[in-house]
Amino acid sequence: MPIYEYRCKKCKKLSSFLLLRITEEIDPHCKHCGNKDVIRVISRVTVLKSEEQRLESMLDPSKFSDLDENDPRSVERVMRRMGKEFGDELGEDFEESMEEALSQENAISSEDS
Ligand SMILES: [Zn+2]
Repeated sequence: MPIYEYRCKKCKKLSSFLLLRITEEIDPHCKHCGNKDVIRVISRVTVLKSEEQRLESMLDPSKFSDLDENDPRSVERVMRRMGKEFGDELGEDFEESMEEALSQENAISSEDS
């Protein structure tokens, strides 16, 4: 679904127009002040949307239903799952710092016992 965005020359705010049909004609204007002097901008809405949805799915409580904050193994499981979802962006650095954090945590908890 194409989304067109226009920036108002007057108030600089963005207005998005969603086209339900490709043949639909839009009358670009500022939705904030009604000004018709607007510039077309390349929309990033679609990208942002999928990012948002991914975050939402990550924050889905059902994914954390087995999380026990006091159990390092349980935390590790959930973190690995999150690492997988964000694997592309976080890469090996994340894996490494995670391993580090977890080994430190394990060391502390083994000292206790
Ligand atoms: Zn405006």
